Amino acid sequence: MKAVLLRNGLLIDGTGKDAQAGMDVLIEGHQITSIGTHLSLPVHYDPADVDVIELDGKTIMPGMTEAHTHFTWQNSLYIQDIDFKPLEETMLGCYLNAQTMIKSGFTSCVSAAARGRVDIALRDAINQGLIVGPRMLANGAEISATGSFVDLHPNHVHVSGLSIFADGEDAVRRTVRSLLKEGADLVKLNVSGESLTPHARSEMTLYTLKEVRAAVEEAHARGKRVYTHARSSDSVKICVEAGVDIIGHADFIDDEAFEMLVEHKNRLFVVPALNWLVSTLEHGAQYFGQEAIDATGYKEGLEIALSNMNRLYKAGVRILPGGDYGFKWCPHGGYARDLEHFVKLVGMTPMDAIVSATKYGGQVMLMEDKIGTIEAGKLADILVVDGNPLDNISILQDHDKLHVVMKDGAYIVNKLPIRQVQGA
Ligand SMILES: [Zn+2]
Repeated sequence: MKAVLLRNGLLIDGTGKDAQAGMDVLIEGHQITSIGTHLSLPVHYDPADVDVIELDGKTIMPGMTEAHTHFTWQNSLYIQDIDFKPLEETMLGCYLNAQTMIKSGFTSCVSAAARGRVDIALRDAINQGLIVGPRMLANGAEISATGSFVDLHPNHVHVSGLSIFADGEDAVRRTVRSLLKEGADLVKLNVSGESLTPHARSEMTLYTLKEVRAAVEEAHARGKRVYTHARSSDSVKICVEAGVDIIGHADFIDDEAFEMLVEHKNRLFVVPALNWLVSTLEHGAQYFGQEAIDATGYKEGLEIALSNMNRLYKAGVRILPGGDYGFKWCPHGGYARDLEHFVKLVGMTPMDAIVSATKYGGQVMLMEDKIGTIEAGKLADILVVDGNPLDNISILQDHDKLHVVMKDGAYIVNKLPIRQVQGA
């Protein structure tokens, strides 16, 4: 078994505890086995099997989790492009996106929908060690009502793309059952609209409580979870009442929806996907025209979302990074921008933003006992960052500063010299 000794780092362990300078972390095989100052080298090892890496004060932190991932969205301009790209090319793009993600420091991700069985095939290939990528919770097509914001083609055009349209409880049940049969870890429902699609705006609620509850019953009966797109206040209330596990957006919540989220904070997660709004406001006009972007109401919507995320954060609701990356104006690779938004726009401390990406990430992956923090006995999903993200959270976006990305004890990225034990 190989061992790796990371020496003299600034440890941000992901629990929220203060950073500690001068720390060593010992990794044996897949696991973190020891953490402390001036750790001695494991004597029972053949020296050739121990890598010693001097960090000279660089930051050691857990690998992060991206909680709103769409590998099958491939930096296209229009949502319709996702439907029209052939699945075979989409699959290849997903393979590359998975590599981009892990090299960006995100060693785990929760898919918030994908085309066909692409996620499932990708997850299985990663788990079998055939290809490099993050730990994945795989999703299937978005389950949507007819006329929802992803129902983008004229009625006479039938496209088998990013959505499966299901209206009424029976159709929703049937769709959830078939997606889970295929091997999805969770299903995604579009409960509210999205204002980039004028006929189904964010303030509209497009599924009923009965339909959402039907999906939750079917998923939970199989030990699986439900992820929703829910911007309107009513859609969030429906999701909480129906028992949805992961709520995407939750930006237009009124006081009642806020109280409901707080009441259920121990069982659910909120993933606001703020970068979608921020990036669309930054770059959308150049592609769609200023008038179209003004008509979305995203500018006012972002303000509302930020103040609601601030009060959810203060109330202890777990808010996770995950930003709907995969469009031309918010491409794959920028995932850590969400942490900057949490600090600069929502008002989180940098430490809490890191906890949301690490400890809460382990929780949303249902792997809290194995990943998300740097503690003895956990799997070695570890980053070494050149700089201190507590001083400048933006450095996590700089891939050049990610000097080591390790998943399960294996190097995905290593830019630092390795010495063998004799020289230690
Ligand atoms: Zn999404």
